[in-house]
Amino acid sequence: MSDTAVTKDIVRQLVPFLSRKGIPITPENYRIWFEYFLGRKEEIKKHLDELLAADTVFSLELNEKLYEKFFVRTLGPETTEKVQAEIEAADTLSRKVSEMVINIMKDVLAGSESSSGYGKKLQQYMGIMESSSGLADVQTLLSKILKDTNETTSQTLKMQKKLEHSSEELEVLHAELVNAKNDARTDNLTRLWNRRFFDESMVETLKQAKQGKRCSLLMLDIDHFKRFNDEFGHLIGDKLLKHVSKSLRNIATGDARVCRYGGEEFAIIHLSADLQQATALAERIRKEIEEVSFTVKGKDVDVTISIGVSQARADDSVQTFIERADSALYAAKRSGRNAVKTEKDIQVSAQDNKD
Ligand code: GH3
Ligand code: MG
Ligand code: MG
Repeated sequence: MSDTAVTKDIVRQLVPFLSRKGIPITPENYRIWFEYFLGRKEEIKKHLDELLAADTVFSLELNEKLYEKFFVRTLGPETTEKVQAEIEAADTLSRKVSEMVINIMKDVLAGSESSSGYGKKLQQYMGIMESSSGLADVQTLLSKILKDTNETTSQTLKMQKKLEHSSEELEVLHAELVNAKNDARTDNLTRLWNRRFFDESMVETLKQAKQGKRCSLLMLDIDHFKRFNDEFGHLIGDKLLKHVSKSLRNIATGDARVCRYGGEEFAIIHLSADLQQATALAERIRKEIEEVSFTVKGKDVDVTISIGVSQARADDSVQTFIERADSALYAAKRSGRNAVKTEKDIQVSAQDNKD
């Protein structure tokens, strides 16, 4: 299934599901359960599957705990603002979800036949709907109605249709939420993935490596960047960072995730390259940076980069995986810069490979 189809499918299930379980449609709960249905994060899926299997009641307290467990992190000042934007987007989404639920219900209720027994019930609900003030009331009603509609085929179809139609609108809203989420993981200056994304992605990468996938890490550092800053000023320094980022993005495609690690340091996580393939990629990058001209005030300035490469091992921690690439990077610097070195080029004692 395509990404869009998957999203659509999930959104379609989400509101009725939350309603059945008595889980309020808040941005936080929406996010938790969206991830659950998406099944992308194994930790979330496993944990919630266990809770569902045990018929757990999702109390307000439990919902809050779940959100904290899965999504709340300590953040640096740079990302706090973006996370705020993410929360706001989720808020808008949630408001729209409640509006949508209320509107569907009003529609279905208004169109129901008052002569049938079921219709009478719906008319009653309609009365309650009109006097209800908050989403909590609507929630309870919706679960009752969904229960009733299970027994009434034509009404079920009607409700289902409305939900499907609204799911398209939700899909658009969801895309906005995804954008806001991505923004919180993007570096402002270079538009590469930021450190927050890098940290999250490394945990995920190691999981995949432990399942047998070949994953590699490139740590890259611009040579003598300080000199460059000193000579031409910070603004031109920033321009150079953007220039290098563009090259990285152009060369490291496919399963490569290009991140700004900090300052003039970059990291590329490759999800399907062994040490040899990652080293070949590093060499292409090194050459490209050396060859593509960077012009300041009409003059070509030499820019070079040093790169260290490591491949994930089954017994790696994030730290040991980074350490090997980092040591290789410093070996590249020591060798005279503008060079690629790998974990094979460095002497790593068995102890260094452990936490
Ligand atoms: P080496 O070849 O050993 O890597 O030397 P270097 O000069 O590149 O390394 P060093 O770590 O001494 O200097 C890095 C400099 O990068 C220092 C800091 O002022 C500068 N820097 C860090 N972040 C930014 C940024 O966002 N913009 C600019 N213009 N400069 C930055
Ligand atoms: Mg540096
Ligand atoms: Mg440097």
